[in-house]
Amino acid sequence: MHTTIPRRLSAAVLAGLLTIGGVGAGAARAVGEGPNPGNGSIQTSALHTYDSMVAELMAQDAKQPAMELEVIGQSVKGRDLYLAKYISDPSKPTILYLTQQHGNEQLTTEGALAFIRSLGTASTSGVLEGVNILVVPMLNPDGAMGDVDFPLDDYVADGGRHLTRYNAVGVDLNRDHVTRLQPETRALHENVMAKYAVDYMIDLHHQGTQSEVDGKLVSGSILYPTSPTVDPAVVEGSKRLGAVVYNAIQPTGWGHLGKYIGGTANTISRNGIASEYGISTLLFEMRGMSDHFYEPYALGQKSNGYLIRQTVLALGATARAVADGSIETVDASFWDTLPEQTTRTGLGDE
Ligand SMILES: [Zn+2]
Repeated sequence: MHTTIPRRLSAAVLAGLLTIGGVGAGAARAVGEGPNPGNGSIQTSALHTYDSMVAELMAQDAKQPAMELEVIGQSVKGRDLYLAKYISDPSKPTILYLTQQHGNEQLTTEGALAFIRSLGTASTSGVLEGVNILVVPMLNPDGAMGDVDFPLDDYVADGGRHLTRYNAVGVDLNRDHVTRLQPETRALHENVMAKYAVDYMIDLHHQGTQSEVDGKLVSGSILYPTSPTVDPAVVEGSKRLGAVVYNAIQPTGWGHLGKYIGGTANTISRNGIASEYGISTLLFEMRGMSDHFYEPYALGQKSNGYLIRQTVLALGATARAVADGSIETVDASFWDTLPEQTTRTGLGDE
């Protein structure tokens, strides 16, 4: 356990250390089929702030001997970017979970925090003996806090803050994985991708609320790398990673997954990281965003519980499958019949 002390320890962080708040992994709920926005008011106040997230990471770091917390860089506005590490033996396989490249896609971060909490409990006993786990939560804290150099007046959420896809200077970080002009993507590549021997990565996002397969709105959609420059063996590993996620989510009853339709550009992390580093990657898009200027993209807070649970299940299942080696032999043939999602209104994300 080792904590890199952030350069600025705000009053809010200190307050957060006393009362760790935010969204817990609440009871799973059925996938909503209601009208837009569906599932209650669109509320940002229940989400972790950047400061309360940092406080939670520091509290878990203090509590968990296996965890190490590292600052990998700073955002445009100077917020420290964190990496939570569980490295028992560098020769063991390593999986990386990345959340919130897009600042308005926060339930993935809530799920990642719940997963980190779970790694300090008996529920994940033994997992860490077989796998190294890296978590980069909230890569875009400026967007998540609405601390950006452009107006967010037309964003729809209530709750005291707006969250936006872009970083502080309006760049989409998930289109910056080749040139890496932004400090957030540079930090990820220089201080995570180049420093650790990562075998698998799940890049967690949210899409609009209206994606469906088989006539039913999806709880999420998944996709492996589709760039022509990715090694076919890496794609096969990605498909097996997807199979583990599918097998964990689909049988729950509330989970309903489709195949995401995504681009082939290496500027997107799903493609670029698989191509450049030979890492098997999976894009996992949860239903509905925490805030947006386009109302059909944002999802009411009553869905928070099952979407957080979906993240925790996906992270837990993949960590276990890498740890026990079952990811090497899992049957990935479901991809041959997994329907591509269609959209009732609006477009996708990534
Ligand atoms: Zn996204």
